[in-house]
Amino acid sequence: KTISVAIIGAGIAGLSCATRLKALGFTVQIYEKSRGVSGRMSTRKADDWSADHGAQYFTARDSLFIEEVNQWVDTDAAAIWNPRLRVYEAKQWRESVSSEHRYVGTPAMNSVGKHLARNLPIEFNQTIDRIAYNNSKWLLHSLEAGDIEQQFDWLVIALPAPQAQALAKSSDKSIEEIAADANMLGCWTVIANFAEKSDVPFDAAFINDEIISWISRNNSKPNRTGMETWTIHANPQWSQEWIELEKDEAAKRILNCAKTLGLDCDQAIITIHRWRYASGHINCIPGFRFREDLKIGFCGDWLHGGRVEGAWLSGHKLASQIANS
Ligand code: FAD
Repeated sequence: KTISVAIIGAGIAGLSCATRLKALGFTVQIYEKSRGVSGRMSTRKADDWSADHGAQYFTARDSLFIEEVNQWVDTDAAAIWNPRLRVYEAKQWRESVSSEHRYVGTPAMNSVGKHLARNLPIEFNQTIDRIAYNNSKWLLHSLEAGDIEQQFDWLVIALPAPQAQALAKSSDKSIEEIAADANMLGCWTVIANFAEKSDVPFDAAFINDEIISWISRNNSKPNRTGMETWTIHANPQWSQEWIELEKDEAAKRILNCAKTLGLDCDQAIITIHRWRYASGHINCIPGFRFREDLKIGFCGDWLHGGRVEGAWLSGHKLASQIANS
C-alpha cells in the first residue's frame, strides 16, 4: 500500500510538493479553498481583459528551479518577458539596468499552476479549518464539506504563514509551534483597463518612496490579448497600514499617486483587490518545516525567501525530506 499525503493549498508550493511526492511514489490529495490553482501567482479575468494581479514575474537562480522553469518554457506554460523597465527614485526616472531573465506564465500567470496541476488530484472549494492526528492518521475537516472521509499518513500545509499558523492551532500546541510567525504584509492592488492604448513610455516600473511600489502594462507580457490593462501595486508598508480602508478610498489614493507618475486612470475601468497576506518571510534553513514524529510538514514562500522561486523550492525540498524519512 502506498503512503498517502494530504496537501493543503494549491499555490506553487503545494503543487510543487505534490508533483515531487507523486514522482517519488506517494499517493497525494490536494485541498484548495478557492476555485482554481496558483494562489498568489494568479490572474484576474473579465470578459475582455485579464491581468496578473499577484506575482508579476519571477526569476530563477537555483539550478533545480532553472531546470524546472526551462520545462515550463518548453511546454509554453511560461516565457521570458522583456518589458521596457524603469525605476522611479528620489522623484527621478531612470532606466532599469538588469540583465536577469524575468519570466511570466503564458498566456497568464496562473498558467504555471495549471501546468503543474494537470495530473494532480485536487478538490476545490475546500477550506480546511481543522486538523487532527489520531492513531497515526491525519484527519481533516473542511468548512464546506465537514469531516473529510479519507485519512492520511502525512500532512503538508502549504499556506501563507498566518493561515498555516491558524490551522496548526486547531490541532495541538506542539504543531502550532512549528508554524513560527512570519509577519506577512498585505498588498492593495488596482487593475486599470483602458479603451485605448496609453502612451506611457514604459511597460513596467519599480517605484520608490511613494504609495505605489510597482506598475506594469499587463498586455506587454507575452501572449496576452485584450484591452490595455495596467496592474498597480501599493507598497507593502502602506498597504499594511491601510489594509482596512474602504476599497474605493484605497483605490482613490493609489490612483492619485499613479497620476503623478504619469499614468492617468480617469478614463479607465477600475478593479481593486486586497491581498491580506502578500509578502514576508523568515530565515529558515532548510527552507521548510518538518516533524517526522508527527508526520507533518510546512512549505511555502515564507519559509524560503518569499518569492515564486522560493515557494517552488520549499515544496520540492519538503517532498524529498518526507521521502527520506
Ligand atoms: P500561495 O500562493 O498563497 O498558496 C496558498 C494556497 O492555499 C492558495 O491557493 C490559497 O487559496 C490556499 N488556501 C489558503 N487557506 C486555505 C485553507 N484553509 N484550506 C485550503 N486552501 C487554502 N513573487 C515573485 O517571485 N515575483 C513577484 O513579482 C511577486 N509579486 C507579488 C505581488 C503580489 C501582490 C503578491 C500577493 C505576491 C507576489 N509575489 C511575487 C509572491 C508570490 O506570489 C508568492 O511567493 C508565491 O506565489 C507563494 O506561493 P505559495 O504556494 O507559498 O502560497
